[in-house]
Amino acid sequence: MAVKRFYETFHPDHYDLYIDVDRAARSFSGTSTIHGEIQEETVLVHQKYMTISKVTVDGKEVPFTFGDDFEGIKIEAGKTGEAVIAIDYSAPLTDTMMGIYPSYYQVDGVKKELIGTQFETTFAREAFPCVDEPEAKATFSLALKFDEHEGETVLANMPEDRVENGVHYFKETVRMSSYLVAFAFGEMRSLTTHTKSGVLIGVYSTQAHTEKELTFSLDIAKRAIEFYEDFYQTPYPLPQSLQLALPDFSAGAMENWGLVTYREAYLLLDPDNTTLEMKKLVATVVTHELAHQWFGDLVTMEWWDNLWLNESFANMMEYLSVDHLEPNWHIWEMFQTSEAAAALTRDATDGVQSVHVEVNDPAEIDALFDGAIVYAKGSRMLVMVRSLLGDEALRKGLKRYFDEHKFGNAAGDDLWDALSTATDLNIGEIMHTWLDQPGYPVVNAFVEDGHLKLTQKQFFIGEGKEVGRKWEIPLNANFKAPKIMSDVELDLGDYQALRAEAGHALRLNVGNNSHFIVKYDQTLMDDIMKEAKDLDPVSQLQLLQDLRLLAEGKQASYADVVPVLELFKNSESHIVNDALYTTAAKLRQFAPAGSEADKNLRALYNDLSKDQVARLGWLPKAGESDEDIQTRPYVLSASLYGRNADSEKQAHEIYVEYADKLAELSADIRPYVLINEVENYGSSELTDKLIGLYQATSDPSFKMDLEAAIVKSKDEGELKKIVSWFKNAEIVKPQDLRGWFSGVLFNPAGEQLAWNWIRDEWAWLEKTVGGDMEFATFITVISRVFKTKERYDEYNAFFTDKESNMLLNREIKMDRKVIANRVDLIASEQADVNAAVAAALQK
Ligand SMILES: [Zn+2]
Repeated sequence: MAVKRFYETFHPDHYDLYIDVDRAARSFSGTSTIHGEIQEETVLVHQKYMTISKVTVDGKEVPFTFGDDFEGIKIEAGKTGEAVIAIDYSAPLTDTMMGIYPSYYQVDGVKKELIGTQFETTFAREAFPCVDEPEAKATFSLALKFDEHEGETVLANMPEDRVENGVHYFKETVRMSSYLVAFAFGEMRSLTTHTKSGVLIGVYSTQAHTEKELTFSLDIAKRAIEFYEDFYQTPYPLPQSLQLALPDFSAGAMENWGLVTYREAYLLLDPDNTTLEMKKLVATVVTHELAHQWFGDLVTMEWWDNLWLNESFANMMEYLSVDHLEPNWHIWEMFQTSEAAAALTRDATDGVQSVHVEVNDPAEIDALFDGAIVYAKGSRMLVMVRSLLGDEALRKGLKRYFDEHKFGNAAGDDLWDALSTATDLNIGEIMHTWLDQPGYPVVNAFVEDGHLKLTQKQFFIGEGKEVGRKWEIPLNANFKAPKIMSDVELDLGDYQALRAEAGHALRLNVGNNSHFIVKYDQTLMDDIMKEAKDLDPVSQLQLLQDLRLLAEGKQASYADVVPVLELFKNSESHIVNDALYTTAAKLRQFAPAGSEADKNLRALYNDLSKDQVARLGWLPKAGESDEDIQTRPYVLSASLYGRNADSEKQAHEIYVEYADKLAELSADIRPYVLINEVENYGSSELTDKLIGLYQATSDPSFKMDLEAAIVKSKDEGELKKIVSWFKNAEIVKPQDLRGWFSGVLFNPAGEQLAWNWIRDEWAWLEKTVGGDMEFATFITVISRVFKTKERYDEYNAFFTDKESNMLLNREIKMDRKVIANRVDLIASEQADVNAAVAAALQK
């Protein structure tokens, strides 16, 4: 049943917001004065966790009721038409990382806090009464007061207009949705510049960071805004684009219009000692958020069911723009190792959501943020569209889309309509098959009676109900073949003739831009394998990736994958190494810790990596290529897993040399040096030293490296100590807790401890981060680790009765299947896989 939208009762046009934050008293109060048109005499305005003291309509007090059960205020306006509704309210200031909230940090041992906001999806209603629906666009004039002291900076969507009697007044915004409103205040450090067109670009952080850490993002942000203005052929509509890093931040970043907020690790970095991989990641986060300034902010989804439209698009544009800004980075390769892999894995589980999902109840909204679907699969959908259209038609269509819908709202079909004006293809028809249906097809390619034939069928990992889904598949074949496969079966004609004409082995989905995998029959596969070593890196990655997925879905055997790993072990491409070791890591599930199979698998890792370690060495060399720099981490990590004695010794020597200056150790190898030290030379003193550095450093990369190493302890006493920090926000911030928890859970010596902890502390966890849209991912990480029947039963015993929580319901069911599939796969494949690993060692 559809829940009533508040917008049906009242169309806001302009807000005058007065907000007074009293940090000392942990509360705030204010007046929300809303100019608009009343549609129904009983007006509904959103609020949550507030006390409402007075409501007036056109200056006259009116009766009202309010409650958190419906997250609103029911106002008896007694009239319709133009009106001014003013609401006086107060609310507590809490540490939930939603609404208005404090972030905590230290400078030289002194505790400080920075106040910031997070309103997406439905948390603006916790900061000021409003019609908190994306369609209810209005202009906002913010007046902000707080217990201010000397040296504090205050930011909002728009520049400050004036300060009067301690109240900061900001310029009126353009028409926008409430979830994009933002402000922040506290002691800050900043760097600013201007774009060619005069937009003020800024990067802001706490004073725990140095100016140098702001330079990288400032440069990317400036050039990104310039690129988008050109690519979209639509000017950036605000005078400023500020990027602010908040020490406590639940998601990765948030595209508030003109004041984008970020997790510190995704905005700040030491340009002199951060891995290229991390720089790429930060650049894609910044360009993602800035893509939203148009796609999401200027034109906004009508309702949350079209959230994918915002996210899928921004997720594609982040790569498109970084590829333009830094062509030498080959950023689309990262798309293959991150988005493609994530989407293909998640989307193969029966019960997964489709990209476009009906959503009525606001409580369902946060459960929609399935990253692997909304972001990763969605962006693959748009990459597919882009490769069908080409950039010129895409730009033309987008310009039309922005012209038609700017300062308004749109749905998916509005985009397809705009794009269809620039091409002969019926983009909408093609895309509906991909967006409205969950899952994706495996295309079987085979030779039958001399003919080359293709069939499509939904691909499942684990049990899946075949319901006859069919997709419009952009084939991108390197043989003569139709552009789109619409039918279940396709006969391409005489195979020998086609093979002779093409002059190479058949491959489909060349470039891996369409969302499907291919299962070739033996003849076709043998033909490909003859050319495999000469294929480009993306094709090699794709070969490994499709084999891995087919093995997960029991349409191939992991035993047959082992020899393919050997084939690529000396590849000098980092993305091929990524695919190789992602696949090799899957073999670990068959080899219980300490078993003979485990010993063999580690020997295989050593065999796969040893020539590369010898070639590259442990320490980065001056003048080496980006490929070598990025390949080294994969092979060092594999070498340590392979218990290579020489690697362990070298890593230890490097540690000893840098023991007093670990922050200066090259970020490219630092995590592996630290992990080796903890795993092979661990002690209580070492744990204490590393956690001390973790608390003291403001460098996000160094922090991550330290965390990655600390959780690898093999000592139960140390692990217990680590788990005891989970509830101590002074050591482990709630925003970082999931990473710490999963780190200990992934460590075989810590699995039981972490699992006990989450069950014992569930009530606390729910209270601390339970309202958060990322909360369900605590369950996701559990599903990545569990692989026995006992754990499956324990999982059910603990989580089944939590399915009544709408935010967790879908994830609990999905992850139950993920664990069941793994238990089943191990039972049926274990003996064969371990025999194949043993056989590979005999060669
Ligand atoms: Zn986004």
